[in-house]
Formats: sequence, structure tokens, C-alpha cells
Amino acid sequence: MKNVYCIGVGLIGGSLAIDIKKHNPEMVIHGISRKDATLNKALELKLIDKKATLDDLENADLVIISIPVDATVKLLPIILDKVPETGLVVDAGSTKEAICKVVEDHPKRRNFLAMHPIAGTEHSGPTAAISGLFYNKTNIVCEVEKTTFKLQEKALKLFTDIGMRIRYMNPKDHDKHIAYVSHLSHISSFMLGKTVIDKERNERDIFDMAGSGFASTVRLAKSSPAMWSPIFEQNKTNVVESLEEYINNLTHFKDLMKSDNFTEIFNEMKNTNHIKDILKGLI
Ligand code: NAP
Repeated sequence: MKNVYCIGVGLIGGSLAIDIKKHNPEMVIHGISRKDATLNKALELKLIDKKATLDDLENADLVIISIPVDATVKLLPIILDKVPETGLVVDAGSTKEAICKVVEDHPKRRNFLAMHPIAGTEHSGPTAAISGLFYNKTNIVCEVEKTTFKLQEKALKLFTDIGMRIRYMNPKDHDKHIAYVSHLSHISSFMLGKTVIDKERNERDIFDMAGSGFASTVRLAKSSPAMWSPIFEQNKTNVVESLEEYINNLTHFKDLMKSDNFTEIFNEMKNTNHIKDILKGLI
């Protein structure tokens, strides 16, 4: 593979570009984005070697799509139309069902591999891209059997070379599980941030009093709304289900407080400490 086209050169696209180039210096990384300023920044930061447009995709050996998931659903069929018969297209979107569905009958479905690298930060755009973001992280691959074997092999080598562990899942299960472990955490952080901002109008006071607990819990509330709102829209059913369970737990906690049942509050927290064992080795 020589010609790589990164559609989207923000946190995920830019970080993939850095690591792929590092492991494959012979590859030429072409950047495609909506805004010229974004591409200029990606060039300046050496995330990409050249600027390109969708019309150049006829030369692509590999296309990596890392743009908001609503834009991916719109663009993916067009991108597949344009790539050559030997071209591989992968996407990094945080939802998988709608993306897989939109190309299920596409004549070049076998050129596409759906994936979700479970790595990220709360920052966005080309300046957020960093080397090593994917090292030791999981890459969830969906519907692998729908991609030609040769292209699967190429993709898997590329991503294991940059340190990723591959896991396979169907898109429905992916979207259900990711609602709990990722999407709900973001909503929880956004709404914690909102609750504190609404109450403490004087932001200086919040800043002065905020300890590391608040800062780490509210970190995800700095994430990009342009990236997250289409994720919630595409995964609405699962996200609503996870929110209902979360709200039930919050209500239960509030009821225990109101009834002075601090023994049960202690037990609830003690039981949840088990999260330490579950997450051991992950963070
Ligand atoms: P990002 O840093 O905001 O970068 C996204 C890039 O997409 C931007 O540079 C923007 O370029 C371009 N873009 C924005 N809206 C677009 C549109 N409507 N049409 C075409 N291009 C558009 O976002 P990211 O964090 O890299 O996320 C990219 C993808 O990776 C998303 O699908 C997300 O679900 C997935 N993902 C994110 C994370 C995470 O933690 N952030 C983790 C795993 C997967 P312009 O400036 O030119 O508009």
C-alpha cells in the first residue's frame, strides 16, 4: 500500500496518520477535509504529506475515514464508488450499525472494513493528534466476513503494527455495549458540568474549589458537540436505555440519602469499588 487518503485529519485521523507513517515511511499520506485551513494545519504539523480531494480517490490504496458519523453515513457510499477495485476503505466511527447498513448492498462492500478504535481524548482537530494514541488499545472490527480476505489481512497488519489489539463484534452488539461504556460516560460528564455551571454562576469560584476529582470526572465535557451529537442520534435507542438505568441508580441514591440510609449508601459504594478489579490493567 502506497497511497493513503485520510478523510478527516483531526484527533483520530491525524493520530492514525502519524503512527501509520512512522511504521510505513514509504507511504504517502494525503489529507482530505472540508476546510482548507484544517488541511494547512495538518500539513504544518506534518500529519499529512499532501492535500487532496475526493476526486483523487481513484489512486487510493487505503482510505481512512475519521469524520463525524453523520458525515460518514453520507460520504461512505460516494467514497466506495470512487476507490479502485483493489482499494481498502476503513472508518473509525464511534457507531457501527448505521454505517454498516448504508453500504450493505454497495457493489464494493467487500472493499470496506468497519472499525472503531477505542482510544481518544477530549481534544479535537489536527492539533489534538498525537503519536502512540492507539498503542495497547482495542480496535473493534465489525462484519469482518464482508471484507475480502486480502484486504482484511492488510488492514489487520496495519493496525496491529501500531500496537492495536483486534476484537470482533457485530454492529448491533457494538452499539449496545458502547452506549454503556462510552456514550453514557460522556453524557454523565456533560450533565455534571452543566449542573455545576448552572448552580455556580461565578465560574472563578468553581475553578478555585475544583479538585482533581471534579476535573477528571468532568474532563469529557470538553469533547466536541459536533462529533458527539450525531453519535447520540445514531445510537438513540441504546443511549436512552442506558440513561434510564443510570437515572434509576441516581434516583435510588437520592432516596437512600433522603431516608438517611447511610448503611446502604456505604454498601452501594463498596460493591461498586469492584470496578477497580474490572479495570485493572486497562487504565
Ligand atoms: P475531530 O478531531 O473533530 O476531527 C474530525 C474532522 O472531521 C475535523 O477535522 C473536520 O474537519 C472534519 N469534519 C467535521 N465535520 C465534518 C463533516 N460534516 N463533513 C466532513 N468532514 C467533517 O474528531 P475525531 O475525534 O477525530 O473523530 C473522528 C471520528 O472518529 C468520529 O467518527 C468519531 O466518532 C470517531 N472516534 C472518536 C474518538 C474520540 O475519542 N474522539 C474515538 C474513537 C473514534 P474540518 O475542520 O475540515 O471540518
